[in-house]
Amino acid sequence: MNDLEEFKLLLDDYNSNHSDAILLISNHLSKKKIIRAETIIYDKVFFAIKATDGNSSFIMKTNFSLEGKTAENLKKYFFKLVYQARRKIKDGFPKTRIEMNVEKSSSASSRSFFSRVKKTNMISTNIREITFEGDFKNLKTHGTDDFMLVIVPQKDSNFRMSPSYSITDFRRQGIQGKKDTAGAFYTIRQLDDDKLKIWFVLHDHPADLGDWAKRAEVDDEVILWGPRSLFNPPENIKHLILFCDESGLPAMQSISEHLNDEINCMAFYEVLDENCCIPINLKRNVKENWIYREKDQPGESKHLLNTLKNIKLPKDNFYIFGAGEAFQMIEIKNHFMNIGVLKDQINVSGYWKRK
Ligand SMILES: Cc1cc2nc3c(=O)[nH]c(=O)nc-3n(C[C@H](O)[C@H](O)[C@H](O)COP(=O)(O)OP(=O)(O)OC[C@H]3O[C@@H](n4cnc5c(N)ncnc54)[C@H](O)[C@@H]3O)c2cc1C
Repeated sequence: MNDLEEFKLLLDDYNSNHSDAILLISNHLSKKKIIRAETIIYDKVFFAIKATDGNSSFIMKTNFSLEGKTAENLKKYFFKLVYQARRKIKDGFPKTRIEMNVEKSSSASSRSFFSRVKKTNMISTNIREITFEGDFKNLKTHGTDDFMLVIVPQKDSNFRMSPSYSITDFRRQGIQGKKDTAGAFYTIRQLDDDKLKIWFVLHDHPADLGDWAKRAEVDDEVILWGPRSLFNPPENIKHLILFCDESGLPAMQSISEHLNDEINCMAFYEVLDENCCIPINLKRNVKENWIYREKDQPGESKHLLNTLKNIKLPKDNFYIFGAGEAFQMIEIKNHFMNIGVLKDQINVSGYWKRK
């Protein structure tokens, strides 16, 4: 994936999921009362916002040039604009989803848990289940797609995790450019008071965490920080449609396992081949469908999209929740939006990005 595609993906995500933050920023940057706005790339290099006040549309160009920058730089700039806007507008605009997520993630319910690898086990061709031992009595989950930031020592460092290593230490090293540890989000597949299981997808281009998961041995030490969750359906839904690739399997299987019996659930899982099929859900109201991508590369297959194009959506009271490779997920989300699904009926997350 080149830089321009990364920028477009990020702006797509902002336009689909953070229109409230874009509106907050536009009302801060403009003297007019903006009622609709979206982010765009202006003149091929500038991050800009296209806004309308109901009478006319116009473009607000920012000073942020994409040249020589990464999507991560743009993300930081966008967050800065949100916080500048909030300082000026104060209570004059409802709290945005970004602000609520930040509050949630720094709330007391998210904590660090020092743990050790107790056991590893290949449960399919490309999924390694790692069981961690630790004191998880105070880890309170939502019983859905709860995920943790898994923090491990960098491959070639002599750094040893310790129970006192905190999320603040982890964030600080990013700012100081000193990298003793690496972290990425992983879903809790199973939780007991003293054990926690995670399913790590093994693949051909592992960086820090994928590589760690391949090498992990009994007694390796990690910090697990969290939990957080993204699954947030409206109340009283009657139908649930879940879909994912292997990275989303733990989330979807945990959601469907904990599902109220009154909700009809159709789940669509894209995996490599038949050997990677891990059917677990025997609940009557959950129908699992396995889709095999066979020779296609992860994140590049159209099988999942084509299968979802053929399903008949319920008339109302439904919610769609998906997770997997970012581009694949955007294509699927676009399909649903094009056939009339409303924003609050769908939540699709890019869990990883193909390069
Ligand atoms: C909320 C959330 C929950 C998640 N839960 C899980 C989970 O339970 N299990 C899980 O395995 N992953 C899960 N993920 C995805 C995981 O965080 C990413 O795959 C992560 O990027 C891996 O970190 P890394 O350091 O190995 O690789 P990165 O530096 O992010 O990527 C390195 C290379 O690996 C490729 N890559 C990354 N992931 C995959 C993949 N799954 N398949 C093929 N190629 C890949 C990238 O394209 C890139 O080329 C979750 C992500 C989120 C946001």
